[in-house]
Amino acid sequence: MPDAESEPPLGYAGLAIDRRAERRDDSGFVDEEARHPAARTVLFLGDAPVLRRADDGGLDPLFESAVAGLGPVEPLAYLGRQRGAPRFGAQLGDGAAEAVDRADDLTTADLRAVASDGRLAGDALALAGYAKSLISWHARHRFCANCGAPSEPSPSGWRRTCPACGALHFPRVDPVAIMLVRLGDHCLLGRQSRFPPGMWSCLAGFVEPGETVEEAARREIMEEAGVGLGAVRYELSQPWPFPSQLMIGVSCEALTEEITPDLEELEDVRWFSRDEAAAMLRRDHPDGLFAPPPAAIAHHLLRRFVTGGA
Ligand SMILES: [Zn+2]
Repeated sequence: MPDAESEPPLGYAGLAIDRRAERRDDSGFVDEEARHPAARTVLFLGDAPVLRRADDGGLDPLFESAVAGLGPVEPLAYLGRQRGAPRFGAQLGDGAAEAVDRADDLTTADLRAVASDGRLAGDALALAGYAKSLISWHARHRFCANCGAPSEPSPSGWRRTCPACGALHFPRVDPVAIMLVRLGDHCLLGRQSRFPPGMWSCLAGFVEPGETVEEAARREIMEEAGVGLGAVRYELSQPWPFPSQLMIGVSCEALTEEITPDLEELEDVRWFSRDEAAAMLRRDHPDGLFAPPPAAIAHHLLRRFVTGGA
Protein backbone atom coordinates (compact mmCIF):
# COMPACT_ATOMS: atom_id res chain seq x y z
CA MET A 1 0.00 0.00 0.00
CA PRO A 2 1.19 3.55 -0.61
CA ASP A 3 2.48 5.26 2.46
CA ALA A 4 0.20 8.10 3.61
CA GLU A 5 3.17 10.07 4.89
CA SER A 6 4.93 10.12 1.54
CA GLU A 7 1.88 11.60 -0.20
CA PRO A 8 3.05 13.39 -3.38
CA PRO A 9 1.90 17.00 -3.85
CA LEU A 10 -1.36 17.72 -5.68
CA GLY A 11 -0.75 19.42 -9.05
CA TYR A 12 -1.63 23.10 -9.75
CA ALA A 13 -2.39 23.66 -6.05
CA GLY A 14 -0.77 25.14 -2.95
CA LEU A 15 0.81 28.15 -4.67
CA ALA A 16 2.47 30.51 -2.20
CA ILE A 17 1.50 33.90 -3.64
CA ASP A 18 0.15 37.18 -2.32
CA ARG A 19 -2.46 38.05 -4.96
CA ARG A 20 -2.64 41.71 -3.88
CA ALA A 21 -6.29 41.57 -4.93
CA GLU A 22 -7.06 44.84 -3.13
CA ARG A 23 -4.68 46.73 -5.49
CA ARG A 24 -5.81 45.23 -8.80
CA ASP A 25 -8.02 48.16 -9.75
CA ASP A 26 -5.18 50.67 -9.24
CA SER A 27 -3.57 50.99 -12.69
CA GLY A 28 -0.66 53.01 -11.25
CA PHE A 29 0.14 50.13 -8.90
CA VAL A 30 -0.03 47.56 -11.73
CA ASP A 31 2.33 49.73 -13.88
CA GLU A 32 4.79 49.98 -11.00
CA GLU A 33 4.68 46.23 -10.47
CA ALA A 34 5.41 45.65 -14.18
CA ARG A 35 8.50 47.91 -13.97
CA HIS A 36 9.82 46.21 -10.81
CA PRO A 37 13.30 44.75 -11.56
CA ALA A 38 12.30 41.36 -10.12
CA ALA A 39 9.01 41.17 -12.13
CA ARG A 40 8.66 37.99 -14.18
CA THR A 41 6.00 36.84 -16.62
CA VAL A 42 4.55 33.47 -17.63
CA LEU A 43 4.33 33.61 -21.44
CA PHE A 44 1.85 31.74 -23.62
CA LEU A 45 1.66 30.88 -27.28
CA GLY A 46 -2.02 30.10 -27.59
CA ASP A 47 -2.74 27.68 -24.73
CA ALA A 48 0.84 26.48 -24.37
CA PRO A 49 3.25 28.01 -21.85
CA VAL A 50 6.71 28.94 -23.13
CA LEU A 51 9.33 27.22 -20.97
CA ARG A 52 13.06 27.76 -20.61
CA ARG A 53 15.18 24.64 -20.35
CA ALA A 54 17.45 25.08 -17.36
CA ASP A 55 21.00 23.64 -17.26
CA ASP A 56 19.87 20.97 -14.79
CA GLY A 57 17.23 19.70 -17.24
CA GLY A 58 14.35 21.39 -15.40
CA LEU A 59 11.81 23.73 -16.99
CA ASP A 60 11.33 27.36 -15.95
CA PRO A 61 8.09 29.19 -16.86
CA LEU A 62 9.26 32.68 -15.80
CA PHE A 63 10.62 35.34 -18.16
CA GLU A 64 11.82 38.92 -17.91
CA SER A 65 9.72 41.56 -19.67
CA ALA A 66 12.10 41.78 -22.64
CA VAL A 67 12.94 38.42 -24.18
CA ALA A 68 15.15 38.57 -27.28
CA GLY A 69 13.24 37.78 -30.44
CA LEU A 70 9.84 37.19 -28.87
CA GLY A 71 8.49 40.65 -29.61
CA PRO A 72 6.89 42.96 -27.08
CA VAL A 73 5.53 41.24 -24.01
CA GLU A 74 2.33 42.98 -22.93
CA PRO A 75 1.33 41.86 -19.44
CA LEU A 76 -2.29 40.74 -19.64
CA ALA A 77 -2.85 39.46 -16.12
CA TYR A 78 -1.36 40.53 -12.79
CA LEU A 79 -0.95 37.38 -10.69
CA GLY A 80 0.46 38.90 -7.49
CA ARG A 81 3.74 38.74 -5.61
CA GLN A 82 5.72 35.55 -5.18
CA ARG A 83 8.41 35.84 -2.50
CA GLY A 84 8.14 39.63 -2.90
CA ALA A 85 8.54 39.62 -6.71
CA PRO A 86 5.67 40.64 -9.03
CA ARG A 87 4.28 37.96 -11.38
CA PHE A 88 2.32 38.41 -14.59
CA GLY A 89 0.84 36.33 -17.38
CA ALA A 90 1.03 37.40 -21.05
CA GLN A 91 -0.03 36.14 -24.46
CA LEU A 92 2.63 36.31 -27.21
CA GLY A 93 1.79 37.22 -30.80
CA ASP A 94 1.79 34.56 -33.52
CA GLY A 95 5.15 35.86 -34.78
CA ALA A 96 6.84 34.65 -31.58
CA ALA A 97 6.28 30.98 -32.45
CA GLU A 98 9.17 30.94 -34.94
CA ALA A 99 11.49 32.67 -32.47
CA VAL A 100 10.67 30.07 -29.80
CA ASP A 101 11.35 27.32 -32.35
CA ARG A 102 14.73 28.85 -33.21
CA ALA A 103 15.90 29.37 -29.60
CA ASP A 104 17.88 26.42 -28.24
CA ASP A 105 16.83 27.00 -24.65
CA LEU A 106 13.10 27.62 -25.28
CA THR A 107 10.25 25.25 -25.86
CA THR A 108 6.47 25.21 -25.62
CA ALA A 109 4.70 22.42 -23.85
CA ASP A 110 1.28 20.97 -23.28
CA LEU A 111 0.78 21.90 -19.62
CA ARG A 112 -1.13 18.70 -18.89
CA ALA A 113 1.73 16.60 -20.29
CA VAL A 114 4.54 18.28 -18.33
CA ALA A 115 2.42 18.13 -15.16
CA SER A 116 1.63 14.48 -15.72
CA ASP A 117 5.25 13.40 -16.20
CA GLY A 118 6.42 15.65 -13.36
CA ARG A 119 8.71 17.89 -15.47
CA LEU A 120 6.82 20.90 -14.12
CA ALA A 121 5.73 20.64 -10.48
CA GLY A 122 5.17 22.56 -7.26
CA ASP A 123 4.89 26.35 -7.41
CA ALA A 124 6.11 26.52 -11.03
CA LEU A 125 3.24 24.28 -12.15
CA ALA A 126 0.68 26.04 -9.94
CA LEU A 127 1.76 29.48 -11.20
CA ALA A 128 1.66 28.34 -14.86
CA GLY A 129 -1.82 26.85 -14.32
CA TYR A 130 -3.08 30.01 -12.58
CA ALA A 131 -1.73 32.17 -15.41
CA LYS A 132 -3.16 29.81 -18.04
CA SER A 133 -6.68 30.05 -16.63
CA LEU A 134 -6.61 33.86 -16.80
CA ILE A 135 -4.91 34.03 -20.20
CA SER A 136 -7.38 31.54 -21.72
CA TRP A 137 -10.29 33.47 -20.19
CA HIS A 138 -9.17 36.59 -22.10
CA ALA A 139 -8.70 34.60 -25.30
CA ARG A 140 -12.24 33.18 -25.08
CA HIS A 141 -14.00 36.36 -23.91
CA ARG A 142 -12.93 39.00 -26.40
CA PHE A 143 -16.54 40.02 -27.07
CA CYS A 144 -19.21 41.24 -24.67
CA ALA A 145 -21.60 38.42 -23.72
CA ASN A 146 -24.34 41.05 -23.24
CA CYS A 147 -24.24 42.96 -26.58
CA GLY A 148 -21.55 41.34 -28.73
CA ALA A 149 -19.22 44.37 -29.03
CA PRO A 150 -15.44 43.85 -28.57
CA SER A 151 -14.58 44.15 -24.85
CA GLU A 152 -11.41 45.58 -23.33
CA PRO A 153 -9.22 44.17 -20.56
CA SER A 154 -8.55 46.22 -17.41
CA PRO A 155 -4.84 46.96 -16.70
CA SER A 156 -4.59 44.09 -14.19
CA GLY A 157 -6.50 41.68 -16.42
CA TRP A 158 -9.05 40.89 -13.74
CA ARG A 159 -11.98 42.41 -15.59
CA ARG A 160 -13.14 43.10 -19.14
CA THR A 161 -15.29 46.14 -19.83
CA CYS A 162 -17.66 46.63 -22.76
CA PRO A 163 -17.29 50.16 -24.16
CA ALA A 164 -20.64 49.81 -26.00
CA CYS A 165 -23.02 48.82 -23.18
CA GLY A 166 -20.85 49.25 -20.07
CA ALA A 167 -21.17 45.62 -18.94
CA LEU A 168 -18.37 44.30 -16.74
CA HIS A 169 -17.13 40.73 -17.15
CA PHE A 170 -15.04 38.83 -14.59
CA PRO A 171 -12.90 35.68 -14.85
CA ARG A 172 -14.97 32.62 -14.08
CA VAL A 173 -14.33 29.28 -12.44
CA ASP A 174 -16.50 26.26 -13.25
CA PRO A 175 -17.15 23.78 -10.41
CA VAL A 176 -16.76 20.08 -11.18
CA ALA A 177 -17.60 17.32 -8.69
CA ILE A 178 -15.19 14.36 -8.74
CA MET A 179 -16.29 11.30 -6.82
CA LEU A 180 -14.53 8.51 -4.98
CA VAL A 181 -17.48 6.10 -4.63
CA ARG A 182 -16.93 3.25 -2.19
CA LEU A 183 -18.88 0.13 -1.34
CA GLY A 184 -17.22 -1.53 1.65
CA ASP A 185 -13.73 -2.49 0.50
CA HIS A 186 -14.30 -1.57 -3.15
CA CYS A 187 -14.28 1.66 -5.13
CA LEU A 188 -15.93 2.62 -8.42
CA LEU A 189 -13.69 3.72 -11.30
CA GLY A 190 -14.40 4.42 -14.95
CA ARG A 191 -12.59 4.69 -18.26
CA GLN A 192 -13.14 7.27 -20.98
CA SER A 193 -12.06 6.35 -24.50
CA ARG A 194 -9.63 9.32 -24.54
CA PHE A 195 -7.69 7.91 -21.53
CA PRO A 196 -4.35 6.20 -22.16
CA PRO A 197 -4.85 2.40 -22.39
CA GLY A 198 -4.97 0.88 -18.89
CA MET A 199 -5.81 4.08 -17.00
CA TRP A 200 -8.92 4.19 -14.79
CA SER A 201 -10.10 7.20 -12.82
CA CYS A 202 -12.80 8.59 -10.55
CA LEU A 203 -16.02 9.69 -12.25
CA ALA A 204 -16.60 13.43 -12.49
CA GLY A 205 -19.07 15.95 -13.85
CA PHE A 206 -19.90 19.65 -13.94
CA VAL A 207 -22.11 21.03 -11.19
CA GLU A 208 -25.25 22.34 -12.90
CA PRO A 209 -27.19 25.53 -12.10
CA GLY A 210 -29.45 25.00 -9.08
CA GLU A 211 -27.42 22.06 -7.71
CA THR A 212 -25.32 21.52 -4.61
CA VAL A 213 -22.04 19.63 -4.99
CA GLU A 214 -23.65 16.66 -3.19
CA GLU A 215 -26.62 16.68 -5.58
CA ALA A 216 -24.30 16.87 -8.59
CA ALA A 217 -22.30 13.88 -7.27
CA ARG A 218 -25.52 11.82 -6.81
CA ARG A 219 -26.86 12.74 -10.25
CA GLU A 220 -23.58 12.04 -12.08
CA ILE A 221 -23.05 8.63 -10.45
CA MET A 222 -26.67 7.65 -11.18
CA GLU A 223 -26.35 8.84 -14.82
CA GLU A 224 -22.96 7.27 -15.53
CA ALA A 225 -23.09 4.10 -13.44
CA GLY A 226 -26.71 3.65 -12.29
CA VAL A 227 -25.49 3.49 -8.68
CA GLY A 228 -27.40 5.26 -5.89
CA LEU A 229 -25.40 7.18 -3.27
CA GLY A 230 -25.87 7.68 0.46
CA ALA A 231 -23.53 10.00 2.33
CA VAL A 232 -21.38 12.39 0.26
CA ARG A 233 -18.51 14.05 2.07
CA TYR A 234 -16.06 16.76 0.98
CA GLU A 235 -12.41 15.66 0.80
CA LEU A 236 -10.23 18.19 -1.08
CA SER A 237 -10.26 20.49 -4.10
CA GLN A 238 -7.95 21.42 -6.96
CA PRO A 239 -7.77 24.23 -9.51
CA TRP A 240 -7.74 22.56 -12.96
CA PRO A 241 -6.65 25.02 -15.67
CA PHE A 242 -8.24 23.30 -18.73
CA PRO A 243 -9.53 25.93 -19.06
CA SER A 244 -10.67 26.95 -15.57
CA GLN A 245 -12.38 24.34 -13.43
CA LEU A 246 -12.41 23.86 -9.69
CA MET A 247 -12.35 20.12 -9.06
CA ILE A 248 -14.26 19.42 -5.83
CA GLY A 249 -13.27 15.98 -4.56
CA VAL A 250 -15.87 14.09 -2.52
CA SER A 251 -16.06 10.59 -1.07
CA CYS A 252 -19.41 8.84 -1.44
CA GLU A 253 -21.05 5.76 0.06
CA ALA A 254 -22.77 3.58 -2.55
CA LEU A 255 -26.19 2.16 -1.65
CA THR A 256 -26.25 -0.46 -4.42
CA GLU A 257 -23.69 -2.71 -6.11
CA GLU A 258 -25.20 -3.35 -9.54
CA ILE A 259 -23.81 -1.09 -12.27
CA THR A 260 -25.75 0.20 -15.28
CA PRO A 261 -23.07 1.98 -17.28
CA ASP A 262 -23.66 4.92 -19.60
CA LEU A 263 -21.56 3.66 -22.48
CA GLU A 264 -21.94 6.91 -24.44
CA GLU A 265 -20.02 8.77 -21.70
CA LEU A 266 -17.72 5.95 -20.59
CA GLU A 267 -15.91 3.06 -22.21
CA ASP A 268 -16.27 1.01 -19.03
CA VAL A 269 -17.00 1.38 -15.32
CA ARG A 270 -16.53 -1.23 -12.57
CA TRP A 271 -15.67 -1.91 -8.93
CA PHE A 272 -12.04 -2.33 -7.86
CA SER A 273 -10.84 -3.85 -4.59
CA ARG A 274 -8.68 -1.81 -2.23
CA ASP A 275 -5.70 -4.05 -3.09
CA GLU A 276 -6.20 -3.45 -6.80
CA ALA A 277 -6.47 0.31 -6.25
CA ALA A 278 -3.21 0.22 -4.24
CA ALA A 279 -1.49 -1.65 -7.09
CA MET A 280 -2.83 0.87 -9.62
CA LEU A 281 -1.36 3.73 -7.58
CA ARG A 282 1.99 1.91 -7.38
CA ARG A 283 1.69 1.02 -11.10
CA ASP A 284 2.28 -2.69 -10.53
CA HIS A 285 -1.23 -4.05 -11.15
CA PRO A 286 -0.87 -7.52 -12.75
CA ASP A 287 -3.06 -6.48 -15.72
CA GLY A 288 -1.10 -3.25 -16.29
CA LEU A 289 -3.98 -1.07 -15.01
CA PHE A 290 -3.01 2.21 -13.40
CA ALA A 291 -4.41 5.31 -11.68
CA PRO A 292 -3.95 8.94 -12.84
CA PRO A 293 -0.61 10.57 -11.88
CA PRO A 294 -0.12 12.54 -8.63
CA ALA A 295 -0.76 15.82 -10.50
CA ALA A 296 -4.45 14.81 -10.69
CA ILE A 297 -6.91 14.99 -7.79
CA ALA A 298 -8.24 11.50 -8.63
CA HIS A 299 -4.85 10.09 -7.55
CA HIS A 300 -5.26 11.69 -4.14
CA LEU A 301 -8.88 10.57 -3.68
CA LEU A 302 -7.83 7.00 -4.48
CA ARG A 303 -4.84 7.27 -2.16
CA ARG A 304 -7.14 8.33 0.70
CA PHE A 305 -9.40 5.35 -0.04
CA VAL A 306 -6.45 2.95 -0.07
CA THR A 307 -4.92 4.30 3.15
CA GLY A 308 -8.33 4.34 4.84
CA GLY A 309 -8.73 8.11 4.84
CA ALA A 310 -11.66 8.40 2.40
ZN1 LIG B 1 -21.68 45.10 -24.24
